[in-house]
Amino acid sequence: MAVLTAGATTYIMARLMGDLPARIDPIRLADDGVRLKGVVLCTDLKRLVGMYDTCSAAVDVDLVFDHGLDDLSHMKGSIRARFSVVCQRCLRPLDLRIEAVADAVWITPGAASKDIPERYDVLVADGSVALDTLAEEELLLVWPMFPTHENPACVPMAAVSGTVASAPFAMLGKLKDARDGD
Ligand SMILES: [Zn+2]
Repeated sequence: MAVLTAGATTYIMARLMGDLPARIDPIRLADDGVRLKGVVLCTDLKRLVGMYDTCSAAVDVDLVFDHGLDDLSHMKGSIRARFSVVCQRCLRPLDLRIEAVADAVWITPGAASKDIPERYDVLVADGSVALDTLAEEELLLVWPMFPTHENPACVPMAAVSGTVASAPFAMLGKLKDARDGD
């Protein structure tokens, strides 16, 4: 279900699939004071493909665009998704929950950014931007470099099965035996 909140009024967008608009104009959304709440499909986030085994179908997007008190074009909110990845320590599947917290200011190309407080990310919008590109960029910023389980049962694969490491050589031995037998 996609919900567009403009001021005090909530509009339910009656679109099939209840998806969000494919492209948004962040500066106009800030002018209008709009909240975007809905889902994008994780399979649409092409730059993340290859970084996970499976993903939750829905990537939750909840972003508020407004001018705040300083009249800048703010975007605040979160983008959340779940992925199944390979743990980089034990090599078992890992349920990775990612939440990107956005606190950014949008500017037009060439606009001065020097007066924008440092705590905000500064993003440049030349007209509209693709919402899935925005979502994947926010998720990439917080994607862990080495995702690992947090529980103590997660130990390096080699430590629990030292025989695995020698298996290729055992196989070579078998091949050699077979050849010697010829
Ligand atoms: Zn692990």
